[in-house]
Amino acid sequence: TDLRAISVSKVLKEILPIIKNEALLHNVDVVIERRLSSIPLVIADGEMLKQVFLNLCKNAIEAMNKGGRLTISMYTDEAEQTMAVEIADEGPGIPGHILEKVFQPFFTTKENGTGLGLPICRQILHEIGGEIEVDSDEQGTVAKVTLPLVSSRV
Ligand code: ADP
Ligand code: MG
Repeated sequence: TDLRAISVSKVLKEILPIIKNEALLHNVDVVIERRLSSIPLVIADGEMLKQVFLNLCKNAIEAMNKGGRLTISMYTDEAEQTMAVEIADEGPGIPGHILEKVFQPFFTTKENGTGLGLPICRQILHEIGGEIEVDSDEQGTVAKVTLPLVSSRV
């Protein structure tokens, strides 16, 4: 791993072409929302962070087999010195009895799934003091990633 201060905004910008291409293939529109009060710097390995967001966007796109909207929102919470990235889809949602298992390694509901996407995301995020939660209802699913910001105070 190569830990350094990096901009999450820049990381997302770098993988956006891949996400948009995958979305296009599945009739999914991509919307980006930014509410940033500063450059969202975090201590992380950029390649690992890319893997996290790609995994989450892949799940979101896979959930919308009839198309829909993928919304990627990023916002800072200066008071908490954290930032969040939310990846929201308009898929059918995850029933409660499945939702409680989605972070178990090898748990998958997909014919060709590995069931490793979410556990790996969580593992990567825990290593850098981050967290991931998945919330879902019949309107869709939101994967919320929270990361500690590099303090801008001297
Ligand atoms: P995989 O994608 O290989 O199945 P993951 O760990 O990424 O493995 O996800 C585990 C399971 O969680 C999926 O099989 C699916 O049942 C559920 N899941 C994850 N993300 C979503 C989502 N956005 N919408 C609906 N179900 C999801
Ligand atoms: Mg997956």
